[in-house]
Amino acid sequence: MKYKSTRGQVSGLSFSDALLMGLASDNGLLVPESIPDVTDKLAQWQELGFVALAQELMPLFIDDIDPEVLKKLIAESYSSFAHEDVVGMQELGSLTVLELFHGPTLAFKDVALQLLGKLFEHVLGQRQQRLNILGATSGDTGSAAIDGVRGQKNVDIFIMYPKGRVSPLQELQMTTVADDNVHCIELEGSFDDCQNIMKTVFADADYKAKYQLGAVNSVNWARVLAQIVYYGYASLRHPEPSVFCVPTGNFGNVFAAYLAKRMGFPIKHLLVATNDNDILARFFATGTYARGTVHQTISPAMDIQVASNFERFLYYHFGQDSARLTQFMEDFGAQGQAGIGAPPAEALMSSVAVNREQTLAAMREVNEQFGYTLDPHTAVGYYAAKRLTEQSEEHSGAPVVVVGTAHPAKFPEAVEEATGSEPTHPTLSALHGLPKRSHPLPCDIEAVKAYLVSSLGAE
Ligand SMILES: *Cc1c(COP(=O)(O)O)cnc(C)c1O
Repeated sequence: MKYKSTRGQVSGLSFSDALLMGLASDNGLLVPESIPDVTDKLAQWQELGFVALAQELMPLFIDDIDPEVLKKLIAESYSSFAHEDVVGMQELGSLTVLELFHGPTLAFKDVALQLLGKLFEHVLGQRQQRLNILGATSGDTGSAAIDGVRGQKNVDIFIMYPKGRVSPLQELQMTTVADDNVHCIELEGSFDDCQNIMKTVFADADYKAKYQLGAVNSVNWARVLAQIVYYGYASLRHPEPSVFCVPTGNFGNVFAAYLAKRMGFPIKHLLVATNDNDILARFFATGTYARGTVHQTISPAMDIQVASNFERFLYYHFGQDSARLTQFMEDFGAQGQAGIGAPPAEALMSSVAVNREQTLAAMREVNEQFGYTLDPHTAVGYYAAKRLTEQSEEHSGAPVVVVGTAHPAKFPEAVEEATGSEPTHPTLSALHGLPKRSHPLPCDIEAVKAYLVSSLGAE
């Protein structure tokens, strides 16, 4: 399988090249040159556990890593998960929660970032190359990315987070990691400042090449690929085609579901659940993609107005027409909005925005009815799924799967507000009292660059 860019100026990349490139060099996103059809394999795959399914599915997209080595990397990636089959399926009445939070940092991002870490280690080792990862986080990505590469000798990771604006637990998850290749930067600024510095550093092609910079944010194709597996897995657990409801921020997770559907897995509908940051809900209702201001909510991992993976979906929606896609993205960049004229005639997808009261109500209801605790992101999905099934005749009989994106103990304040009790998890409790390592820096790109250079020189 080769990879190409949505913007049409990059093609013929191997999987490993796509892995290391991250964002395509023409500013587009990398996608496979074709989407494999797995329909005739589904009967055989029905009984497979998560790891076995990953080992069957991923080689369709990765043909430049030795098959036996790839199998081993996949098995190792998921050995760090606490659930016996990596992901859990919890029935709550007529809905099922697909629990993706049993990895080391308790959010679904571990499913992709544990594998990404192993793939980097292997490919860099083979090529005798190094990679210096620079990332910005508003919370969950930082700790999951750090956990994926901690202790590796060919990788250094630098994660910027906004001072005082990530939760105390999320900060502990990053700053208590003791490995020498992990560098946390507490930046005097907002998340947008962190992200702007990251983008500006990456845009400096000479600097990027000189210091071998790489990215782990959700535009990396390997992250999407890892996420396809659990949609396939969950869809094969039900006899009828499923509806998946996905709590969404950057559209990476739900885009993986879209590809799973295109590959032939039994998926009936995708419900894109957003919080008050409803740019996607507005797009699916009106056909106009228009930037709004970012609202702070109790589901902070979804406090995003411009969904970086949405470009991949649009590319397919436009029939892989790179020129049309590029025009759309340029209009959006210049005017803060772009449209397709009418709501997309895409019966496969719809979107619902869920507010704070509705999120809290969902957490309370599930706690009272089932004695089960939802985190606020999963609660957004649960509320949206309930509404869809109650209001739509069409979906009333289908199995409905709500994607569980985080363990409730990561967001104790919101859960306590809804249910009256504070959830805990031993992994998080163990962090209190550990020594913290973080480097404070002013909101200044030159300061970040200088810190990077001096940290690398010191090794
Ligand atoms: C990252 C994250 C999301 C959003 O996922 P996207 O792929 O960006 O749409 C939702 N919930 C939690 C808990 C997350 O960490």
